[in-house]
Amino acid sequence: MARYKKLIAAVLMSAAIMISGCGKSEPPVTAAPETATATEAVTTTAETSAEEKAVNKVRTAEELAGKKVIALTFDDGPNTAVTNEIIDIAGEYGIKFTFFVVGQNITPETAEAMKRAHGIGCEIDSHSYTHSDMTTFDADTIKEEMQKTAELIYENIGEYPRFFRPPYIAVNSTMYESIDLPFISGVGCSDWEDSVSVEKRVRFLTEKCTDGEIVLLHDQADNEKTAEAVRQAVPVLLEQGFEFVTVSELFAAKGITPSADKEIIYSYATETGRKE
Ligand SMILES: [Zn+2]
Repeated sequence: MARYKKLIAAVLMSAAIMISGCGKSEPPVTAAPETATATEAVTTTAETSAEEKAVNKVRTAEELAGKKVIALTFDDGPNTAVTNEIIDIAGEYGIKFTFFVVGQNITPETAEAMKRAHGIGCEIDSHSYTHSDMTTFDADTIKEEMQKTAELIYENIGEYPRFFRPPYIAVNSTMYESIDLPFISGVGCSDWEDSVSVEKRVRFLTEKCTDGEIVLLHDQADNEKTAEAVRQAVPVLLEQGFEFVTVSELFAAKGITPSADKEIIYSYATETGRKE
């Protein structure tokens, strides 16, 4: 029974992704029931939990070949407010986002949002434990920040983070030496500033984003403006032919192995990465 449910969930997710404009069903599913309709897909995907390995599979370079890809990423969660609103949008369109979570924000309540995001194929990565300027820390403290956050993520979703976004994008050599994950920056529109209007955020998203880009946004509990901007921008970006991918998939799509060894911080999959 559980196996059957898992299959159905995977098929519904495929349908959701197909109607969202990507045109390619996501997980390889055998024995697909013919009865799954697009409407069912939209209303059903959000309730699924971390059981769907197929949904969480990182799409390969072949699956994403020739696609215009973009990774929308959200920092400073998780919380039970805007984080959930962003996940709602991903669920409605059957698309994937990436959440860079702050370890100390993970509570039994907020962890539910993280599990929900992971359950519909979003990626959970690390944004440190205390959200401090880590250039002021020694190596042991840096490692402790990373370890605590990684364990909390693993306890809740069964996977460790794959990428690290430094708080304030502040980096130094001690951090690069102490952290065993590729560093991610991104292109943003200062969406943590309340003075940046929804309209400006929408314009940034719909007019400035390019293929292979990591978009840096924030899902702080009170950042309604970003939730609204993403809600308005997603259908426009889909119309423009963008495929919403996780950060892992963004690199896969471009055939890049992101480096955790070199002093590189990525804002685009292709800008400083090297084929290895
Ligand atoms: Zn932050």
